[in-house]
Amino acid sequence: MTPEEFRRHGKQAIDWIADYLAGIESYPVMSQVKPGDIRHALPSEPPEHGEPFENVLSDLGRILLPGVTHWQHPGFFAYFPSNASGPAVLGDLLSSGLGVQGMLWVTSPACTELETVVVDWLAGLLGLPEHFRTDAAGGGVIQDSASSACLVALLAALHRAGADGIDRDYTLYVSSQTHSSLERAARIAGLGTAGVRVVDVDQDTLAMDPGHLRALMDQDRAAGAVPAMVCATVGTTSTTAVDPVAAIGEVCAERGVWLHVDAAYAGVAAICPEFRWLNDGVSEYADSYATNPHKWLLTNFDCTVLWTADRAPLLAALSTLPEYLRNAATTAGAVIDYRDWQVPLGRRFRALKLWSVIRWYGAEGLRAHIRKGVTLAAELAGWVAADPGFELHEPHPFGLVCLRPLWPGLAEEEADRATTRLMELLNASGSMYLTHTRIAGRVVLRMAIGGVATERRHVEQAWEHIRWEHAALSRTLPR
Ligand code: PLP
Repeated sequence: MTPEEFRRHGKQAIDWIADYLAGIESYPVMSQVKPGDIRHALPSEPPEHGEPFENVLSDLGRILLPGVTHWQHPGFFAYFPSNASGPAVLGDLLSSGLGVQGMLWVTSPACTELETVVVDWLAGLLGLPEHFRTDAAGGGVIQDSASSACLVALLAALHRAGADGIDRDYTLYVSSQTHSSLERAARIAGLGTAGVRVVDVDQDTLAMDPGHLRALMDQDRAAGAVPAMVCATVGTTSTTAVDPVAAIGEVCAERGVWLHVDAAYAGVAAICPEFRWLNDGVSEYADSYATNPHKWLLTNFDCTVLWTADRAPLLAALSTLPEYLRNAATTAGAVIDYRDWQVPLGRRFRALKLWSVIRWYGAEGLRAHIRKGVTLAAELAGWVAADPGFELHEPHPFGLVCLRPLWPGLAEEEADRATTRLMELLNASGSMYLTHTRIAGRVVLRMAIGGVATERRHVEQAWEHIRWEHAALSRTLPR
């Protein structure tokens, strides 16, 4: 493709995206295809001869679009938001256009240095501790995901605990509400599922119980195990519960155990002063901290920022220097090579999209986005609480509202089946997409508000639809 051809097709691609976003409400939020539909609509063999780019665009619309779930649809309330704002998409495009692979400072100094500036900016915007800044002992780095961030944190924690491979019984502490990526990290790091200890949670708040953590850790130490890391979560995946980081941190500090704080979803809310409480205990106790701008902070996937209080154990755990990567800047120790802060060697120029987002919105625009989600969620929660047909799960401090439809006369299991059926009907309608979780064993619906395009009317329509479908389904159920 020549630069002129690129210019022409690039404009077509941008027009395609702009038209798609402008008309996104016309699509069913959740793809309605069956397994295999898309695959069977595509040729089983690749073309022998090159084709015009227009063919790709037309097949994208004709064949692939029906198999796309529209995460940017304003009626998307499933999982957590995965914001893809205009400036983020353009920043990502520019990164692709530059085609830089930033494994070392020398392979593109701007890729490294912009990342340093942007992660330091974000630490400041979120009110994270000064020692997380690159000029201090710590530093931040962009990872592909919170899952990678917790794996990297665990590797650093194991290193600091004296591990040389898995030479003893190392243990990792999570709660029943911790994201599954921690268990995966334990398996990858060699601790196995046997090395994962599940700490109790408070039955009401679903937050980790620091007393039980202390007891488990002491029991493990007495049995000869080495507690390596605790993961506290600020905003759990299921219900956005917040673990007591300071109390957990005290237990860790007393025993010299690494504290990782997983704030994948909720951490970015600390950009608003009224959410600075999210950082309680982080400054005093967190050895590492991760949040995902790629969820709620207007930056398209993938963009997780991981900070450490002290980068030395992280670098000691992951640094290698084969001959083919040697260069004067690295050898002089004058630069950061972010490949030593992550699992893969290669890395994209992700800082460009985060930079683009922060510059386009400014801190006030980012705060406004978070506040919009929180305000709409609070409004929805008010409607749910006022409706005798539903039960609201409290608290709901961020953009997620968990609600349980009530089915008078139905036994628990039947009620759970009815709730699941209600969710399926709503999702099949194409007007909204929501997911579920279980709280105290009962199926509960999750509505995560915070899409770039989601406005009050979309939440209001979704709530009316839920109520209407609930009433309609209730009438068909046996009593
Ligand atoms: N941690 C928490 C609390 C999450 O909610 C999620 C995803 O929803 C993750 C980790 C995993 O995020 P990622 O997809 O970036 O690995």
